[in-house]
Amino acid sequence: MKLHEYQSKLIFAKYGIPIPKGRVAATAQEARHIAEELGGRVVIKSQVLVGGRGKAGGIKLAKNPEEAEQLATQILEMEIKSLPVRKVLVDEAAAIESEIYFSITNDRAKKKPVMIASSAGGIEIEEVAAQTPEKIIQIHIDPLLGLRDYQARDLAASIDLPRDHWKEFGRIAQALWQIYHETDATLAEINPLVITKEKKLLALDGKMIIDDNALFRHPDLAEMRDLDEEAPEETTARKYGLSYIKLDGNIGCMVNGAGLAMTSMDIVKLFGGEPANFLDIGGGASHEKVAAAMRIILSDPNVRAILLNIFGGITRCDEVARGILAAMDEVKPKIPMVVRLVGTNAEEGRKLLADAKMITAETLADAAKKAVAAVGKTASTRIPVMQESVVPVGAPPAKNHQKNRSVR
Ligand code: GDP
Ligand code: MN
Repeated sequence: MKLHEYQSKLIFAKYGIPIPKGRVAATAQEARHIAEELGGRVVIKSQVLVGGRGKAGGIKLAKNPEEAEQLATQILEMEIKSLPVRKVLVDEAAAIESEIYFSITNDRAKKKPVMIASSAGGIEIEEVAAQTPEKIIQIHIDPLLGLRDYQARDLAASIDLPRDHWKEFGRIAQALWQIYHETDATLAEINPLVITKEKKLLALDGKMIIDDNALFRHPDLAEMRDLDEEAPEETTARKYGLSYIKLDGNIGCMVNGAGLAMTSMDIVKLFGGEPANFLDIGGGASHEKVAAAMRIILSDPNVRAILLNIFGGITRCDEVARGILAAMDEVKPKIPMVVRLVGTNAEEGRKLLADAKMITAETLADAAKKAVAAVGKTASTRIPVMQESVVPVGAPPAKNHQKNRSVR
C-alpha cells in the first residue's frame, strides 16, 4: 500500500524527521486558508500516488494566499499519469541550497534492507541510476542489529555531505530506519532531503510503501489507504483476492498458483515473448474471480494476447471456463487467447470453450509458443503505459512508474 506524501511526512514528523509546516486541503479555498495561516511563500503539491509530479506540473510555488488559491484550483483539476488530483498539500516554501536522495528499501538479492543515498536528489532515482550510477551509495542493514551509527556516517561521507550536517543526518537516518522497521514498510523514501539556505536539513518529499501482508498489525496505517488514488486494477485485484503485478510485456498471463505463474512467464520469455503481468488466480477460483482477472488483464492496453494456463486441482477447469466465457461476454476482447486446461473437469472446460474461438494447447510449451506467435501476427508496436501528454514539451520521457518495483 502506497502512502501519500502528506501521510508519509506525518509519520516522518512523529519520528522526529524535520518537515516543512503545512497541511492538506481538498478545495482551493482551504488551500488559501492554509496559505494565510502559514504566511509568506507556499508550495502547492498535488497528492497523487505517483512520482514525478514536479515534472508533470503538479507542484507550484505561490507568493501569496490569492495565488495559492489560483494554483490550487488549477492543480485540483489536473490528472497526473491518469490519476485525478483530489487533494493538495500546502507547505511553507523552502529555500533550497541542495537536494539529497535518501531511502530504505528491500534488497531482495541480498535479503536485507538497504539504505540508499545520493547527492543527486530531487530527480527520480531510476534516472540517477541510468545516468550517474556512481552517485548512488548503498549500505545494507542487518535487520537484527539495526542501523549502526558508523553506517550513517559512512553514507554521509560518501555523498560528500558537509560535516556540519552529519549529526543531524545520523538522527534522520536512525529515524528513517525506525520508521521502516516499525511500520513494516518496503519503501521509506525522502526525495529530496534538502539543505536549506538556513543550513537546516528538511524532508521536502515523502513516499512510503507498506507491505500489504503486514497491514493486519497496523490498523492505523490500513485506514490511510486511498482507494480513489490506487490504480483501479490493483483495487479490483485485492477485492477478489488475486495476486496481480503489472509488467511491461504484451502477453497477458492468467495462471493458478504462484509457482505455475512464474513458470509460465519464464516459458513465455524462453520462446521470445514478454509477459504483461504476473497473475495468480489462486486455488479454487470461482468464475466471478476468473472474470475479474480477465478484466484486469484486458485493462492493460499493451496486452496483445492472453495465455491461460490452468492446472485444475482444487480449481475446477469448467468453473474457469465459465469465468472466461462470462468475462468475454462482458469485455468482448478482440485479441487472441491461448488456453491450456488440464486436470479436474478439463474435458468439460474445453467443451465449454470450444465455440469461443480460443486457441487450445496441450502442453505449456505449446501454449507459450502459440501465444508468442499470436502476438507476432498482430501489430506489435507497444503503446506507452503512461500518458505522456502531462509531461511538458522538452522534458525527458517520463518513466513507467511500475519500473520502480525493480528497485526493491
Ligand atoms: P515529485 O516531483 O513528485 O518527486 O515531488 P517533490 O515533492 O519531490 O518536488 C519536486 C521538486 O520540486 C523538488 O525536488 C524541488 O526541487 C521542488 N520543490 C518542492 N518543494 C519545494 C519548496 O518548498 N521550495 C522550492 N524552492 N522548491 C520545491
Ligand atoms: Mn520527490
